[in-house]
Amino acid sequence: MLTGKHAVITGSTSGIGLAIARELASSGANVVINGFGDAAAIEKERVNLELEFDIKAYYINADLMQAGATRAFINDSVQALGGLDILVNNAGIQHTDLIEDFPIERWDAIIALNLSAVFHGTAAALPYMKKQGWGRIINIASAHGLVGSVNKSAYVAAKHGVVGLTKVTALENAGNGVTCNAICPGFVRTPLVEKQIVALSQKLSISVEDAAKELLSEKQPSLQFVTPKQLGGAAVFLASEAADQMSGTTLSLDGGWTAR
Ligand code: NAD
Repeated sequence: MLTGKHAVITGSTSGIGLAIARELASSGANVVINGFGDAAAIEKERVNLELEFDIKAYYINADLMQAGATRAFINDSVQALGGLDILVNNAGIQHTDLIEDFPIERWDAIIALNLSAVFHGTAAALPYMKKQGWGRIINIASAHGLVGSVNKSAYVAAKHGVVGLTKVTALENAGNGVTCNAICPGFVRTPLVEKQIVALSQKLSISVEDAAKELLSEKQPSLQFVTPKQLGGAAVFLASEAADQMSGTTLSLDGGWTAR
């Protein structure tokens, strides 16, 4: 379905980004993966993508907290792939604290990666997409792009910002073949959430598995984690022809979190 398309997925050495890269690749797209981690493990993932799905996969290392590095990363990706059709702005980090205790450098880092990198990546990608009259920008926001939670000021502010940026990107490109939408996941059991589960288990002196259930019961009525693969499926849908007229909106996969 996406055969021959060129996709860039930020923060895709782990968790949701890696699963999105795998689903796009399984639909035939060539991919650039990016993010931190063990070099040998990343190379193994890259080779697996090529062998399993018969596509081209590249790894480009870039610290997307820097504006210049983010813009250069998009241009380097276009050089490697030979084009750019799909950009998934996924890289993100988390920190939890009350506002008055929130370390300034953590606030700055979360805004830089979770919000500003989406802006810089989008700005660098749009000229290529507009020129060819087709493009898909998929922003991985969060249920926290739609509602708030205590202790997550920077994250909630950044993700609400991403939802706003998604709308502006959609409006500025309406009718030119480039769409922009945000996926809003609830809890997904990736390293980002595992940290919160472990912290909760320590705080409540309960097992990690009980803490996982506790975390879900606070927010996610289904009491089940969203899987990275399900989010990959949503990204494939947004990249498909069925989503041609879908732009500037949010797609929630949150087990009912934002329904109440
Ligand atoms: P993760 O920690 O498993 O993966 C994050 C990825 O980003 C990794 O590949 C990491 O190497 C990369 N990364 C971190 N800092 C980077 C930097 N400075 N430059 C480039 N890459 C960097 O996290 P995840 O849970 O897969 O989160 C992915 C996205 O999904 C994030 O935007 C997150 O906010 C969002 N999200 C996650 C959940 C969840 O429950 N896990 C829910 C809603 C939204």
